Amino acid sequence: MEKRPKGLFAVDKFFDRTPDGPVLVGSRCTECGKVAFPRKKVCIKCFRNDCMEVHPLSKRGEIVTYSIAHMSHIGMATPYAFGYVYLPEDNITIYSLFEDWDPPEEKLFIGQQVEQCVDVFREDPWGNSIVTYLYRCIGTKPDSQAAAK
Ligand SMILES: [Zn+2]
Repeated sequence: MEKRPKGLFAVDKFFDRTPDGPVLVGSRCTECGKVAFPRKKVCIKCFRNDCMEVHPLSKRGEIVTYSIAHMSHIGMATPYAFGYVYLPEDNITIYSLFEDWDPPEEKLFIGQQVEQCVDVFREDPWGNSIVTYLYRCIGTKPDSQAAAK
């Protein structure tokens, strides 16, 4: 079982609480199938407002763009990596911070496979841990493996 982070959620509405822990959710239109994140009350494709259901987002995706930040606000360690992740099952792209991205020349690249996790990403000014979803890099760049051999 995945460890459960202790802390306050940065954005509560991103998650559904389940007995197995927090689940990152968007919404899905039962009429046209469009998935959206964050949750919507009206479908962003067919504009119906009576057919939106809570939809757990795919646990796996791939990086479509990324960057490394060397400055942040108080309580957030630097450098940190962030970008957009495409979730093929849901056909959406979402913003995320990344985990396990070091060394960046091997782990950060377009097409990198990532796996969703929920973890502490910063502290607030009172020392509380703040939790959000992140995507963990799970592969290495094909050329960097060839270079290492
Ligand atoms: Zn729709």
